[in-house]
Amino acid sequence: MELNRLDDLYRDAILDHRRNPRNHDRVIDSDIVGDAVNPFCGDEIHLQLGLDADYRVDRVGLQGEGCSINLAAGSMLTEAIHGKALDEIDALVLLFRKMMQGDADAEQLLKDEGDLSSLAGVRDYPVRIKCALLSVSALTGGIQSYKSAVS
Ligand code: ZN
Repeated sequence: MELNRLDDLYRDAILDHRRNPRNHDRVIDSDIVGDAVNPFCGDEIHLQLGLDADYRVDRVGLQGEGCSINLAAGSMLTEAIHGKALDEIDALVLLFRKMMQGDADAEQLLKDEGDLSSLAGVRDYPVRIKCALLSVSALTGGIQSYKSAVS
């Protein structure tokens, strides 16, 4: 894709996660499972979360297929949600979506959340924004199913 036209700093972080995806192993006995597919470019995300006794995410697994932006974003997301409670994840997802819509304050706040802010450059390629957000769709879908099952 147009990766070579992204800012170098953004590109390095994306390529690093693409080559060395974090938390790639499937989580056995997970509490939350989320899956999402984007037929446009063949992107897939399969996500598993395990919660500890305080309902914080203490195990994360994400397996993906498809383009570099999708895979890198998924890897970055697993790092950002590790250790967080579900309401903290909701806040993170909101920030991430706002950043992808062009919100500079959200981008600044996301700099404290690992590498996710390096996806800001993807905004310049609107067709790829869905790729950057696919893992978020899998995550929020999984959390919704979990909440409706336990409530
Ligand atoms: Zn894609």
